[in-house]
Amino acid sequence: MSDESSAPEREMVRGIVDVLRYYGAMGIERFPFPVSNVKADGVSDSPDCHTATIDLDLTVREESALYVTQPSPSEKAKQLSALRDKIGDCARCKLSAGRTNIVFGEGNPDARLMFIGEGPGEDEDLQGRPFVGKAGVLLTRLIEKMELRREDVYIANIVKCRPPGNREPAQDETGSCRGFLEQQIEIIRPAVIMTLGNVALQTLMNNPALKISAVRGKLLEFKGHTVIPTFHPAYLLRNPADKWKTWADAQKALEKLHHGH
Ligand code: SF4
Repeated sequence: MSDESSAPEREMVRGIVDVLRYYGAMGIERFPFPVSNVKADGVSDSPDCHTATIDLDLTVREESALYVTQPSPSEKAKQLSALRDKIGDCARCKLSAGRTNIVFGEGNPDARLMFIGEGPGEDEDLQGRPFVGKAGVLLTRLIEKMELRREDVYIANIVKCRPPGNREPAQDETGSCRGFLEQQIEIIRPAVIMTLGNVALQTLMNNPALKISAVRGKLLEFKGHTVIPTFHPAYLLRNPADKWKTWADAQKALEKLHHGH
């Protein structure tokens, strides 16, 4: 069963567990076939179905694994906190030399929507929080226009330390840092990731040939997560006429979040 099992799938699992409990109450504790070999029509394809058995208790104990395929929000928060601890006072790349603060990322550990930018700017470096400068104000406005709050989504960057003079992070720097971001994505498991700008798009997708102008608003995929590339808010501050395009991209994200397509 996938991590994002649907309501009918969860219902089916509940039904199976109820049946197993019923058999347990009747004193039947072992089955003449392994559950893993039961097909959808209920017929076992075990070549040795008379001798293969499964422990009912084990099956019921595994119920939690079937139900709780997603860690709870508090578990995710703990995992993110452990990751932050692991990063520590990171000096894995040369950006550590000029930073004031590591900007880990912030938001809902259980967010269905995640924004990924390029790297911290001056304000972010000073405050240790992502997207708090002028570009951050614009991003916050976009989030609110989507009828969400910043606390509902998760916001992070490709690199966690400020590149000097706000230059683009170099390949060795993104290479050193991207593992942390990937772990954040694995923990949060957002349904949709909106990448902000070329660097975020190319680095996340591991494809330097991708251009925001060509793939903006398209639905891409990264490790099972839908990725919707859009402009960086800093670009929109310089090119406000393109704001409507980002709004169109955001609507695609909402469509995906609400209807799954
Ligand atoms: S940018 Fe990332 S890898 Fe480089 S020092 Fe900062 S946290 Fe470490």
